[in-house]
Amino acid sequence: MAEGKGHAIASVAIGGIGAGAIHSLQMPGALSFGIGSVMGILLSPDLDMLEGSYSFHVVRSVLGKTGGFAWRLLWLPYAAVVKHRSRLSHWPVLGTTIRIFYLMVLFLVVLAMSNIIIATAWDNVIMFITSNLETCLLIFAGLVGSDITHFLLDR
Ligand SMILES: [Zn+2]
Repeated sequence: MAEGKGHAIASVAIGGIGAGAIHSLQMPGALSFGIGSVMGILLSPDLDMLEGSYSFHVVRSVLGKTGGFAWRLLWLPYAAVVKHRSRLSHWPVLGTTIRIFYLMVLFLVVLAMSNIIIATAWDNVIMFITSNLETCLLIFAGLVGSDITHFLLDR
C-alpha cells in the first residue's frame, strides 16, 4: 500500500510515460494526457478519506490554509458517502467518472446559488466539452491512467 506521495510520484511517472508514448507515435494530445495524469494527484481516489488525503496537503501547500480547507470542505460530502477504497472511489474509470460528476454537480450548485442562469452556463460547459472533445478525452485518459496506478499500488 502506497502513501499519498508514492501515488503522486506514480501519477507523474505514468503521465510522463503516456505522454512520451503518445508523442513518439506522433499523435496529438501528449500534453493533455500528461496534464490529466498529474491532475490525478488532486482528484485522487483517496478523496474518500474523511481524515484527509495527500490531495489536501498539495492544495494547502499551493493555496495556503484557506485553500486547503476549502478543498477539504468541498470533498467532505463525498468522503462521508463513499467508503474508503470502495469500488465507487478506487475502481479506475468508474471512480474517475464519479469524481468528475461530483465536481460537475457541485459546479451546478454553485451556479444555482450565485443566481447564474444554469441552463446558459451549463450549455456553455457542454459546448466547451464538445468543441474540445479530443482534449477532454485525453485529459480523462490521463486521469484514468493515474487512477490505474493508484489502484495497483493500493493492492
Ligand atoms: Zn487509495
